[in-house]
Amino acid sequence: MWSRFKRAQGHEVLYVCATDEHGTPAELAAAAAGQDVKTYCDEQHQVQKAAGEAFGLSYDVFGRSSNAPNHRLTQHFAKVLEDNGLIEERVDRMIYSIDDGRFLPDRYVEGTCPHCAYEKARGDQCDNCGRLLDPTDLKDPYSAVSGSRNLEVRDTRHLYLLQTKVADTVRGWVDERSPSWQPLARSIAYKHLDEGLIDRGITRDLKWGVPVVGADGGPRPGLEGKVFYVWFDAPIEYIAATEEWAQANGGDWRSWWRLDEGAEDVRYVQFMGKDNVAFHTVSFPATILGSGEPWKTVDQLKAFNWLNWYGGKFSTSQGRGVFMDQALELLPADYWRWHLTAYGPEHSDTAFTWEQFQGAVNKDLADVLGNFVNRIVKFAESRFDGVVPDGGEPGPVEAKLEADVTAALATLTAEFEAMEFRKAGQALRALWVLGNEYLQEAAPWTAFKTDRDRAAVGVRTGLNLVALFARISAPVLPFTAERIGATVGQTDLTWPEPDAALLDVLPRGRPVSRPRCCSKRSRTPRWPNGPSASGAGRARPGPQALAQAEAPRAAPPRRAGPRRCGRSPRPRDAGAWPVPPVRCPATSRS
Ligand SMILES: [Zn+2]
Repeated sequence: MWSRFKRAQGHEVLYVCATDEHGTPAELAAAAAGQDVKTYCDEQHQVQKAAGEAFGLSYDVFGRSSNAPNHRLTQHFAKVLEDNGLIEERVDRMIYSIDDGRFLPDRYVEGTCPHCAYEKARGDQCDNCGRLLDPTDLKDPYSAVSGSRNLEVRDTRHLYLLQTKVADTVRGWVDERSPSWQPLARSIAYKHLDEGLIDRGITRDLKWGVPVVGADGGPRPGLEGKVFYVWFDAPIEYIAATEEWAQANGGDWRSWWRLDEGAEDVRYVQFMGKDNVAFHTVSFPATILGSGEPWKTVDQLKAFNWLNWYGGKFSTSQGRGVFMDQALELLPADYWRWHLTAYGPEHSDTAFTWEQFQGAVNKDLADVLGNFVNRIVKFAESRFDGVVPDGGEPGPVEAKLEADVTAALATLTAEFEAMEFRKAGQALRALWVLGNEYLQEAAPWTAFKTDRDRAAVGVRTGLNLVALFARISAPVLPFTAERIGATVGQTDLTWPEPDAALLDVLPRGRPVSRPRCCSKRSRTPRWPNGPSASGAGRARPGPQALAQAEAPRAAPPRRAGPRRCGRSPRPRDAGAWPVPPVRCPATSRS
């Protein structure tokens, strides 16, 4: 959304995203799928890329942290950090599983908690009493990978990043940069700085990852077969993905990243969930700043809170929630984009419910935006030969509209600039509402009977609002905006400057029409599981999975009152095009 907004304003934008593919979870997921880890990651990368694109995420590059540029850059950063005295070798004592043939990361050792006797405590923390643990504290430990109790403690050599030595540098950088960050990101950064940075192991005993190399590029003596920790190499992939983009497109990646090669004028913005803030405000800056090289560091950091599923967590393993690939089989991307923008977990955690989702889509998209576009274009088709009509002069009603639109557009632009996306959603909706209010007041269908010129002004102004709505809705609703714009021949979806001409841009006589292909009837989506059902999970639901999911055997969530959703389906279909209303899933009414 932000990328689309900035491009629409005429900025040169590079939207970089990637899959971070290393680490124990990827290895174990691959094993569970019966695949080698590379094949697994190859497939998952394609799945993620396709899902993102289908949602209208306008990536310039969707890279892979397992690709060659990230190997090279990760090894480069490790070398310069070591040259700067910020990396040293240390010997750890870690749990080795003889039957699994591997060292076990802390969380993959389970056993009985020494404090509360909970039998499934993890090696890093007990989920029952919450105490932080060391895997060697556990009584009767076993491997969470295989269940084997054939474990022993072995020495293993690792590289440590001496974050204690760069803590002051990082804090100085946060002091300088964070005043422009939003409170959530800033508070998380200081929380971690105040708790104190610790020297951190940045290598692991894994097979899949960026290998640790010696000065000659070959295996490093004493660290053969080790790879860098995923959280060391993953953020470096932002830079490496840009190199992937350059390789594919012939661009210059260094001018985006090196302050000595043109990146001084880059504004670097990161978007993430709040769980990732510490890595982006402390760990990654420690790597970058510790290198002493002139790399671009983040300017603005936008963090989001949690989206919950009826107050609980989304869970792929338990099939609780609706997931990216599944969502698009139910409804178009713009419905999800709208809901997550205008009602998303921006400044606090937010619960997703089908009821609220239905309300947002119907009240905002179908009733306000869709209804407006449908009404005015339909009327132009039936009464003005399907063209932008000539004749008449704007009067006081149009003057007031113009003033209101100019002010509302300034507000909308300011909210986008401030990355206040919920407020931007409301400001966008407020503009759509202005369109409806104008049509109510100008009432061209009434004026048409007595004063054709007056009606022509109303229709012409309304059609210009359609063109404007296409432009200002495009960052949030790219697919809908294109369709709406097409009805009035508005293919230019650049961001508008607030000025008077906005309401009289379309050439008179230009044909306008609703698409002939689309029936008015809204399709009835087939819904997935209710809130606490299980079964469909993350898997792409085929006909069989969906049929199962629709069966009303899902236990309803605990809630205070009866759920009203869907009891009175909207009888209307007048506003079905261009954004038909939706109805709640049957299963959640049980
Ligand atoms: Zn415990």
